[in-house]
Amino acid sequence: MEARKIIEDSDRYLMHTYNRFPVVLRKGRGVKVWGADGKEYLDFVGGVAVNVLGHCHPKVVIALQKQAQRLLHVSNLYHIEPQVKLARILVTHSFADKVFFCNSGAEANEAAMKLARKYAKEHSGHRDHDRYEIITALNSFHGRTLATITATGQEKFQKGFEPLMPGFKYVPFNDIQALEAALTRNTCAVLLEPIQGEGGVKLPSEEYLKQVRELCDRHDLLLILDEVQTGIGRTGKLFAYEHYGITPDIMTLAKGLGGGAPIGAMLATDRVAAAFKPGNHASTFGGNPLVCAAAIATLEAVIEDGFILDHCNRMGNYLVERLAQLKEYHQQIMEVRGRGLLVGMELTRDGMPIVTACLERGILINCTGGGNVLRFMPPLTVEEKDIDHVVGVLDELLEKAL
Ligand code: PLP
Repeated sequence: MEARKIIEDSDRYLMHTYNRFPVVLRKGRGVKVWGADGKEYLDFVGGVAVNVLGHCHPKVVIALQKQAQRLLHVSNLYHIEPQVKLARILVTHSFADKVFFCNSGAEANEAAMKLARKYAKEHSGHRDHDRYEIITALNSFHGRTLATITATGQEKFQKGFEPLMPGFKYVPFNDIQALEAALTRNTCAVLLEPIQGEGGVKLPSEEYLKQVRELCDRHDLLLILDEVQTGIGRTGKLFAYEHYGITPDIMTLAKGLGGGAPIGAMLATDRVAAAFKPGNHASTFGGNPLVCAAAIATLEAVIEDGFILDHCNRMGNYLVERLAQLKEYHQQIMEVRGRGLLVGMELTRDGMPIVTACLERGILINCTGGGNVLRFMPPLTVEEKDIDHVVGVLDELLEKAL
């Protein structure tokens, strides 16, 4: 079908929940995607931090093909081999002992918050009050379901959907005093992103997460880390918590986990996971054989190929360095920051005209935060020449002061 017709039909048949760019993407390989008109793009959006291995990585494609021929779906009423294998890989390479599979980041966070409440109920001991309150950060992002927009500390995602879920409190990110002051006898957990992604690539100080961990231990609270965006190598380690010398009690994953296949996961220690009993939580598609096969192939490539995490660190440093050079002579750039290949460039102005101009020049980037942070999340396999090209085009566009 012709691109114009697809766009017309898209407007006609799809709910208008996205303001889409007038481009139909039809094919992808590695860091590149091609439009229906044949135009080539360098993809520094990467499906919003999904395509860790690039588009259509052969290992993922072959794993999907093989699994599709064997078994697409069976119920979680039975044991599913790829699901068990994937859980074993995740447990072997993380703090966690147990995994629950679902289909998205929001669902993983829903599962995490349910588990935290259930655990708190079971561990209330002699207390005569309920513990259910979850403290999250202002400027955070945790998903679009009712509970996860409530957990998200940004009014713009909540407006129009009130009444929100009871039992949430918000504190400024990276402020341990504010967190301590917000605790009440009802608090059961703290939910944070190790790096705020949608909020504009905001990194906490090195000590902050350690202090949060200590605070949680002192007050018998669970620490939930939302690694939906930062997980699966994005920040140069398999999971971002590894940078901070701590482990959470619960962690959520999605995005990069399936290398493009839709899968989410909620991981926890045995002590915490034991609060979920048969019937407490479920998902028809969660841990489906097909998506698990894709996730196994993705994780095996990220973990076993070894070079990918090193490469991500090197390319992430290179990207930050090159963008920081632009800052020396473009006054519109306020700050360049990031870890691994989750990088943000904060501007003194709206970033959207730059995103649109990049698209015209064959580069996909994205803009987040208050609309003034250009965000770069290319596949972890991106190369120096790709970064040079993107930085060169940005240099020209910033010069033009669009
Ligand atoms: N948590 C974080 C940190 C995210 O960045 C996102 C998506 O951007 C989500 C949760 C929601 O994930 P999903 O869109 O898969 O529901």
